[in-house]
Formats: sequence, structure tokens, C-alpha cells
Amino acid sequence: MKFSKSPLNERFADLQLLRYEVPGFEDLTLRQKLLVYYLAEASLLGRDILWDQNCRYGLQIRKTLEAIYTHYEGSKDNPDWLAFEVYLKRVWFANGIHHHYSCLKFQPEFSKTFFLAELNKLNESLLPLKENETKADLAKELADVIFNPEVIPKRVNQADGEDLLLTSSCNYYEEGITQAEAEAFYAELKKKADTKQPPMIGLNSRLERASDGSLYENIWRSGGLYGKAIDRICEMLDKARHYAENNKQRAIIDKLVEFYRTGNLKTFDEYAILWVNETESEVDFTNGFTEVYGDPLGLKASWEGYVNIIDHEATRRAKALSDNAQWFENHSPVDERFKKKECKGVSAKVINAAMLGGDLYPSSAIGINLPNSDWIRAEYGSKSVTIANLTHAYDLAAKGSGMRQEFVLDEETRQLLNDYGDICDDLHTDLHECLGHGSGRLLPGVDADALRSYGSTIEEARADLFGLYYIADQKLVELELTPNAEAYKSQYYSYLLNGLLTQMVRIEEGNQIEEAHMRNRALISRWTLEHYTEALQIVEIEGKHYVKVNDYKMLRKAFGELLAEVQRIKSEGDYEAARQLVEQYGIKIDAELHHEIRERYNRLNLAPYKGFINPTYELVKDDTGNITDIHVKYEESYSGQMLRYSKQYNTL
Ligand code: ZN
Repeated sequence: MKFSKSPLNERFADLQLLRYEVPGFEDLTLRQKLLVYYLAEASLLGRDILWDQNCRYGLQIRKTLEAIYTHYEGSKDNPDWLAFEVYLKRVWFANGIHHHYSCLKFQPEFSKTFFLAELNKLNESLLPLKENETKADLAKELADVIFNPEVIPKRVNQADGEDLLLTSSCNYYEEGITQAEAEAFYAELKKKADTKQPPMIGLNSRLERASDGSLYENIWRSGGLYGKAIDRICEMLDKARHYAENNKQRAIIDKLVEFYRTGNLKTFDEYAILWVNETESEVDFTNGFTEVYGDPLGLKASWEGYVNIIDHEATRRAKALSDNAQWFENHSPVDERFKKKECKGVSAKVINAAMLGGDLYPSSAIGINLPNSDWIRAEYGSKSVTIANLTHAYDLAAKGSGMRQEFVLDEETRQLLNDYGDICDDLHTDLHECLGHGSGRLLPGVDADALRSYGSTIEEARADLFGLYYIADQKLVELELTPNAEAYKSQYYSYLLNGLLTQMVRIEEGNQIEEAHMRNRALISRWTLEHYTEALQIVEIEGKHYVKVNDYKMLRKAFGELLAEVQRIKSEGDYEAARQLVEQYGIKIDAELHHEIRERYNRLNLAPYKGFINPTYELVKDDTGNITDIHVKYEESYSGQMLRYSKQYNTL
């Protein structure tokens, strides 16, 4: 996948905005483009639901801040104004006044005087006043919510021993309802529910108190809470259904609309089953109440929506490898006894996001695995996807970050990485996923869990080594998966750099390597460093350490040798050898080197959190008003997009 431009966009506070491109959109038929278009509209129309779920003041605050922002006439150099602008951008990013990750309320750096003065200048008609509310009331209430650190300090509190509902300010439970009350209410509902196919109780409602003091669920559905937003989502889904790629997909959309109309959780499960069973279409989507991280009790789901398109290029690559799986197995450097006589490749589905909405915007996941219902997963499985274009935007952002300038030895190597890094990263992942894990076999009678706690590190090492060994093979040039016989060197360098040095930036000083993938990379890199000293070195230049490769061909030999040994360990279930390999090379960190690497990284001053600006889709019409095409554009600014969404998708 090629990006025409750097994905880096605005940077402020602890945030970095990125753009993502939508490869493959142009190649869709007009029908499919229309499907994407209407599903994309549906994924933006739930935005206000999320804002209200995150905080009961969320929508009123956003509307007030935006009114001030768009009508401000004072000096743009005023420090209060500048701080106000950053605050609003952070609030947009978090879909509320609490940090999207830490859940803590933002402390504004502009003055309350500035806020009140600017609010006061506005005509009442520009403000989100509730019935009988005066401008003075609004100003007083919001000033307290925004500026007083004691008021709703945390969106989701998970601290043990406190009442999680009274101390969390998310809006899933009416104010004053205690954790004990809510738990008792749901324990009662669960008792009455189907135990074999339990619905996701509590998922789509706000828990409220009736006038007689009893609790009830205010359901999010057409005609119920958030009904106005839901009706508009349904309108778009109704348009999308006309362009569904097949009958199964049309049935999914219809079932989702039925769920939105009724709020019936049984219907929601039926929808999830239809959705997980549909794997043919090129365009897919999710839309609805999905993840429960925003509720301290883990019952109520925040609203999210996204649309995606299958990545044909990645799928083609994966298929080329899978189709030749037996060839790779036969030619691998492992002992004949450990090879599979008949092997099948696995094809993982890779997609590209076409629109992100609700709780997936601007901060998004890069892999998604749904549905969440346990019994449906057990009986029908789940769809697991990697979102390639978002991953690529992250990768590219990392490249523009100065990491290469700081950590790569010389210009020649940087050039190598610039030329082939992307292609070879993807290819190594494909080799790892589609062939590596599926290769080799256990000797008869060997327990699959024989390597116990070292098993997953050894398994990841096996898949990585399979990929490292084959990425340098002429076969990949023949299959047209690598451009030439030199490209693999970029993967060798970046892999070893990561395994020997840069992956340490993600570990706190004083800690050791815990995670299996990180252990595996350290294991492979350090084993090679120790056994192939002529091919690979760590050199020190002016107090900084660098990876230096002297002989790439020799490295391939090293990876083949280690692959043979790791496969032997796995096939024979040699626990002791696994233990020694992992303990010796995969875990410990040299404290001094760790400190140096972290220092160098921190000096780059990179934003810890990233999020995305969506593309826009423009309808192209002929003279008689018929839609003839849809263009995807990447021009809208962050603030422009946020303000437009607030206007165009203003549903609540
Ligand atoms: Zn793996």
C-alpha cells in the first residue's frame, strides 16, 4: 500500500492526528461505493449518542464551546484563546471533557473569566439552553463542571473498594444510583434470563429511577432514549440495504434495523449471528452498541460504527503464499521428521477502514474481533480483522518521528529501509501468519503443551524465523512478492534493530521483557548476535549504540539454523532446551543500555496518543441529478471535520 503523503497532521497536547487513506475504494463498483457511502453516513450519525453516554453534560458543553469558538472576535494571540482552542480540540478528541485513555477530567488552561465573558457575548439563540434555562444558569453550571476539579473528576473509576457508580461520571446510570442497587437489579434480571443462550443484559439502556424509587431500564431504541439519533441511523441503513452485495448482507442490515426499532436483545443476538456468518462481501461494517469499557460495571455498551473494504492486495499476497504452502514446507531447513506431509496455508482477512465513527473515532483500534457474546462465539465463531490502512498510517507516522534518524546506523541503511521497509514488513507478517504458525509437526506422542510457560515465546519465534528465513528466498521474487533479491535486507535490519534495541522503549526501566512477541524478538536477535559475531555487531559511536550488519547472507544462514533448532524443540517437546533458550536470550535487559535507549527515545518528544481524521466522500452527479460516481477526499482539517460533524450529524 502506498501513501501519497505523510499521514501526520495536527499535533497538540499529548495527541497526534493522522490521516488514513482508503486503498481500493476507487476500484469498487458504483453500487459498492454507494453501499460504503450510506453505511459511512450511518456510522457518523451515532456520534451524539456517544457524547451523551460519556457524560450527561457532554453535548451541552460541546455546543457551548463550539458557539464560542465560531463566534470569537477577539485577538487570536490572546493566551486565553490559544488555551481555549487546545482545550476544545482535546474535548473533541475525547468525545467529552475526560481524557479518552486516562478518563481524568481535563484541567483547562484558559481562565474562567475568559470563558464567562465570551459566553456572555453570545446571543441566546446560539446556545444550547434547556427549557426555562437562562444564559446565566447555563454559564454558572458549565463553569462549575469545566473548572471545578472536584466536580465529576473521572469518567470511569475502577478503583477497588469505592462505589464505582457514584465515583464515575459516565452517563449509563442515573445520578445517585449506587453500585449495590444496580448490581442487585441486574442479578435479578439474569436469574430470569435464558441460561443456554444468555442475551447481553443491560447492553442497550440507561438505568434510571422511577418516581416510586424503583429502578428501570430506559432503552436506547426508536421512540425511546436516543430515538432521534437511532431513527436517522435507520434511515441511512434503509438506503444502504438497496446496495447490499448479497442477500445475506441485506438480511443483516434488516435485522439491525429491527433491533434499533425494538431494542430487543434477542434480536441483537440474531443480528450478530447473521453478521458473523457473512464472509463473502467486500464491504463490511459494524454499527451499534458494542464495547463495554466505558461502563465501570462492564454491562452497557458505547455506540460505535465503522465501514471497511477488503484489502485485495493483502489478500492476494496471503493467497500466493497459502497456495504454495507445501513448497515452503518441503524446502525449509528443518529436519525431515518435523515437516508436515500435507499442509494448508491459513488466510487471514485484512481490511481497510473506510469510515470511523462513535467510540472508534478519532482514536481507533487497529484489530477488531466481534461479536462479544460468549455463547455466540462458542457456537458460531467470530470475525477477526486487521485494519491495514490504519496500521500503515501508524507505521508511517513512526517513520516521520525521527526514530530512524536517531537509531539507524547510516544513510545507506536508512535508504534501504525507506525503499523496502513497508513491503517487507507486510510480507514478513504474512509469512509469519499464513505459513509460519501452520508449518511443522509434533512427533507422535508429544504433548502440545510440553513447553508450558515457554511455549508461546517458542511458537512466536518459530513463526518469525520461518518468515525471516524465507523472506530472503528467490521464490518470493518469482512469486512477485518482493521486488528484487536485495529487498529482504531491510527486514533483517529493522527486525534486529527492534529486537536488540528499540523495542526496549516500551518497557519501563527496571523491568524485564514479559510479553511473548517481545521475548521472541529479543531471543532471535541476541542469539544471532552471540553466534554470528562476524555478520552482526552492536557498535558504539559517540556514546550511542547502533546495530551493524556486515553480512546479510550469513544472517539468513543463522536464521535457518535457529529455525531448525526451535522446530526441534517444539516437535520433540524439549522443555529444558526451550527454558534455556528463552531464559538466556529472551528476558533480561541490560540496565545501562535500556537507560540510553529510553533517553534517546524521550528526546524525540513523540505524542503518546494518536487518532485519525476521516476521509470525506463526495457524490458526483450528472445533469439530471443521478449519482454517477463517488470521490474520496483527504482534505478536511481536524477542526473543520469536527465542526461539520457537529452540524451535519447533530441528532440529540
Ligand atoms: Zn504469531
